[in-house]
Amino acid sequence: MKITAVEAIPLKATFAQTFRFGTTDRTTSPNVVVIIRTDDGAVGYGEACPVPAFTSETQHSIVELIAERVAPVLIGRDPMQHVPLLADVARVLKFAPFTVTAIDTALYDLAGRALGVPVSTLLGGAFRDRVAVHGSVGWDEDPAAMADLAVEQAATYTSIKTYAGRGELGADLDRLQAIRDAIGPEIALFVDVNGMWQPSDLVRALPRVPEIGLSMLEQPLPVQSTGLLTTLVGQLRVDICADESVRTVTDAARLAADRTATVINLGHSKLGGPTAARQAAQVADAAGLGLMVGSVIEMGIATAMGLHLAAALPRLAYPAYLMGPLKYRQVIATPQVEVIGSAIAVPTGPGLGVDVDEAALRRLDARR
Ligand SMILES: [Mg+2]
Repeated sequence: MKITAVEAIPLKATFAQTFRFGTTDRTTSPNVVVIIRTDDGAVGYGEACPVPAFTSETQHSIVELIAERVAPVLIGRDPMQHVPLLADVARVLKFAPFTVTAIDTALYDLAGRALGVPVSTLLGGAFRDRVAVHGSVGWDEDPAAMADLAVEQAATYTSIKTYAGRGELGADLDRLQAIRDAIGPEIALFVDVNGMWQPSDLVRALPRVPEIGLSMLEQPLPVQSTGLLTTLVGQLRVDICADESVRTVTDAARLAADRTATVINLGHSKLGGPTAARQAAQVADAAGLGLMVGSVIEMGIATAMGLHLAAALPRLAYPAYLMGPLKYRQVIATPQVEVIGSAIAVPTGPGLGVDVDEAALRRLDARR
């Protein structure tokens, strides 16, 4: 079996509602679907979902990199030589994690489809057939709007992630309290600060954390200040999750040593693919750090990859953030994810276990 084509399709994808976090307002998403085909008719799909807050990659640059750098490396090669192929791709792609993610995912999908097994089997086997997921409430100026959305989410999810750091500290904490008052004590609440608090903000916020009933603070400090957490983390009654601080496997190894967090957010897109995410997970797990599987709110292909990745991890400290497809107006892969009992079923078919609608990809092609 030899790779004959590597295609990248830029999508015109839009969210049903504006999603606010950190300093970002997202209404559209510059996703790119990568399709790898072979001479015997096998096919694999991958998805890149670049986010400007994380990477300089753009939809346009990803399409160009796939055509100019990746395709010449992959065409004519055996797609089952997955990791050696990624090593060759790494020689031509520097600091392009979202592009690598699409290639890595497509190679997994292709191998799984060709062998007739789910990607979770290729990852060593599934520890679970359903992955617990949390809801999300984007930041809003109006605390009542956040509380209303949280109440809506609490009907579906047993835990909710929300955002802080964008407003003034006291007002943001009041927003969190408004959410807690609205949803009651039973729903677990996590807060992602996206690195927007200064150390003094964190110290001021800490007394209110147990009052509000937060179980986890994600990336409370900017990446360059996280060293300050070394002495603090062990004394806290709240988990500290590293997200922006963990962009590479090397970052996970550093965190295992410096202990500036108790949990890492394992998004396969930001880490440069499921292969790197698995390595980061093994390093973190071996060091006794908790894992939660994150995402950058992707469509159905990348989300299916996240579900297989989460299924194949022995321990998950927190529910995963994998309901991205529900936030988009468009559907490119079926079956659509469905949240039942605050969990999503891991697809069971070969490869990623989703049918990709190539006609929909052509209709959504941003170049049209
Ligand atoms: Mg985060």
